[in-house]
Amino acid sequence: MKYIMALLFFISSLAAFNFNISDSTITNGRTAIIIFDKEKSVNYEKLVVGKRSYRVFNHPLNSKKMYALLPVSYYKKPTTQKVEVFYKKSNKKLSKTLFFKIEDGKYPKETIEVQKSKVNPKSKEVKQRTAKEYAEAMKIYGTVTPKNYVRSKYIVPMDSKITSSFGKARIYNSTLNGYHSGTDFRAKIGTPIIASNDGKVVLAQNRFYSGNSIIVDHGQGIYTCYYHMSEFSVKEGDMVRKGEVIGLSGDTGRITGPHLHFSARVGGLQVDPLQLITLLNENLY
Ligand SMILES: [Zn+2]
Repeated sequence: MKYIMALLFFISSLAAFNFNISDSTITNGRTAIIIFDKEKSVNYEKLVVGKRSYRVFNHPLNSKKMYALLPVSYYKKPTTQKVEVFYKKSNKKLSKTLFFKIEDGKYPKETIEVQKSKVNPKSKEVKQRTAKEYAEAMKIYGTVTPKNYVRSKYIVPMDSKITSSFGKARIYNSTLNGYHSGTDFRAKIGTPIIASNDGKVVLAQNRFYSGNSIIVDHGQGIYTCYYHMSEFSVKEGDMVRKGEVIGLSGDTGRITGPHLHFSARVGGLQVDPLQLITLLNENLY
């Protein structure tokens, strides 16, 4: 009897909490969500994946639940990914290990042949400028605002044809040189761009590659970005509402023709923005 009691206790302490995972298989460049049931005496703290960690937040609309997002880098190779959930139960520090399968997104490849000298035609000034802009951006994306500004479903920034989707691998002269980091919307110069959701404008600036760029912080580590704009109608520090016009599309930055490049970051990682929006809308709002 004693033995059975001990065994039962062992099993119940293993089943420490209830949770739901959007998908146990995640494609590189995409995001998964874990929804936890709030339980008395259990405090969820974070998910740890390798060197990265992601916080667990209150569900925006359901007071009985909490959530954590699990973004996967585009460069992650297919593998079984270990995710450790850290939590406290009656003030005792515990963790539980979950496993995810990372799958290859099999993104299409785009081969571009250019003169060798033009693959990386950067002067010292340009290098300094792009390095500074990169550092500024990474500082923003690495900042997790604890507050969630969002209360309802995300929307796309413009009702227009998608001309290039996220993840297309770009090969210059047979060397893989990055990938398409967002979703492009067809837009002639001067087309209004709207905020995908409520948030705070944390960057409204001209940058070398992305031209006139806006970054909106939606809180809890989620950012949306709007590039190559011709005009801004908001400035850094402004609070914006979902659907509010934040500026006009253009052809600024290093591009060949006018369009809107829309992208998103979660926990510092660049992810497919449309998949992220769908995931959040289906699971949180
Ligand atoms: Zn683009």
